[in-house]
Amino acid sequence: MSKWPDELVFAPLGGVGEIGMNLGLYGLGPRNRRKWLAIDLGISFAPPEIPGIDIIMPDVSFLEDEAKAGNLVGLVITHGHEDHIGALVDLWPRLGCTVYTTPFTHALAEVRRLGEPGAPKIPFHVVPTGGRTQIGPFDVEFLPVAHSIPDSHALAIRTPLGLVVHTGDWKIDPTPVVGNITDPARFSALGDEGVRAIVCDSTNAFRDGISPSETDVQQVLGELIAAAPNRVAVTTFASNVARVRSIAEAAMKNGREVVLVGRAMERVVSVAREQHMLDGLPPFRPVDAYGFLPRDKVVAILTGSQGEPRAALARIADDDHPDIALSPGDQVIFSSRTIPGNERAVNRIINALVLQGVKIITDRDGLVHVSGHPRRGELEQMYQWLRPQVAVPVHGEPLHLAEHAELARRMGAREVVRIVDGDVVRLISADPSASAEVIEELPSGRLYKDGNVLIGSDDPAVAERRRMSFAGLVSVAIAMSGKGEVVGDPMIDLSGLPRLGLGGKPLDEVVEDAVLDCLDGLPKARRRDPDAVAESVTRAVRGSVNAAWGKKPLCHVLVVTV
Ligand SMILES: [Zn+2]
Ligand SMILES: [Zn+2]
Repeated sequence: MSKWPDELVFAPLGGVGEIGMNLGLYGLGPRNRRKWLAIDLGISFAPPEIPGIDIIMPDVSFLEDEAKAGNLVGLVITHGHEDHIGALVDLWPRLGCTVYTTPFTHALAEVRRLGEPGAPKIPFHVVPTGGRTQIGPFDVEFLPVAHSIPDSHALAIRTPLGLVVHTGDWKIDPTPVVGNITDPARFSALGDEGVRAIVCDSTNAFRDGISPSETDVQQVLGELIAAAPNRVAVTTFASNVARVRSIAEAAMKNGREVVLVGRAMERVVSVAREQHMLDGLPPFRPVDAYGFLPRDKVVAILTGSQGEPRAALARIADDDHPDIALSPGDQVIFSSRTIPGNERAVNRIINALVLQGVKIITDRDGLVHVSGHPRRGELEQMYQWLRPQVAVPVHGEPLHLAEHAELARRMGAREVVRIVDGDVVRLISADPSASAEVIEELPSGRLYKDGNVLIGSDDPAVAERRRMSFAGLVSVAIAMSGKGEVVGDPMIDLSGLPRLGLGGKPLDEVVEDAVLDCLDGLPKARRRDPDAVAESVTRAVRGSVNAAWGKKPLCHVLVVTV
């Protein structure tokens, strides 16, 4: 067999073909001896169809094996959003490698880790903002970019085969209030150096034009707070330090004090204070000061913009918060965008607040929020700066990726490769005749965080729970002698079924009759086999309940031989 040529490949295990749980791999070397560099380790939030599961993570079994074989050289975290860092505490123990990131992201990861009892000690290598470091055979430069959290970085990854740019999440915003700008000179210089491939954010690839600046949002929030006659509560993502700063500046200008509400908000603000991102602002007031402040002298900044049921805003909407209440004439500003899937939860809260007489302002009413991702005009600018030969759209659902691919082609990328999680795409090869294309597939999938345990997405627990939530559970316990005689009365328990079936007959009686009739009718030989008894009783119970109710519950039959 001929020797494999040296290659640089990109292989996402999460975040491509879906929004969330980003994990990208760069592999360098011949096909059978690659060294891997991992980028980001994020989570997704589970939809309500997966009962009992809140958090989803990428399946890292492939990377775990490569780490054991000594082929994983490190993990880079581009920024502190949950879809890029949220799985670190749970999955790092399986990888065991050094984690490279920049100061704010590191500090955020550390306060979070310290907040979780039993979390592992993770070896971080902190690179200064805009710094450069060698990780195995990869020379990685952290390129500051504007985004909706401070300290976000794109990566210039240099290898002996060539240079690729991994954009991470970014936008162009020359006036971001807090944090980095996306420096045109730096990116153009990379273009002059020669960028072989770009692996780029697709989130807003179907939105025309250029995103408004964070400063535009600051101005609108300032006007709203200046005009408000009573209390103002603003809900936003805790990690959006620029937004927190804008709200606090508007409060200060209008003689109002800021009260922070919510653990996540306090955590991010403490890190932002340490990193001098909130310099010049007076200290914020603790939540128990709220009740003592006059109605026109306070602005509350709250978590819960996505309708999270345990967050501050949901509790205030339900009038169930120990320190914070709103009165008719107060206003709540949603300085956020509702993530698809959360609309019902958010609407429930909005309706509850409206019933309390609270005025609601959302991004439908004015520019109170702006996205942290590039629109088409910004993507075009990036392609003009970098002039890459190869483009690989990531960070999006198939629709976003397709839209981005078309744009990349239009902007002159000669090879545009559309991929999904698990695909291995060749970016550069030592063999000049080899093109950029998908050459392999890696095992990929999802893990669910179930309580404190990680399970596979195919674990029967989830399917069983879904069935139970749809049609309930009937449990039957039967004691039998060795000769196949029923001893005593069967014990029956129903859960999740209505009390009465069609015609008004109680369903527990329907089940009891079904069990007794079934046992009576069983031939002697079959009765001596506990498994056969359980199977017949299950079938009889589900059939009778279906006739009386129209749904078949789960049925557990326990046959004990006494
Ligand atoms: Zn992000
Ligand atoms: Zn992201």
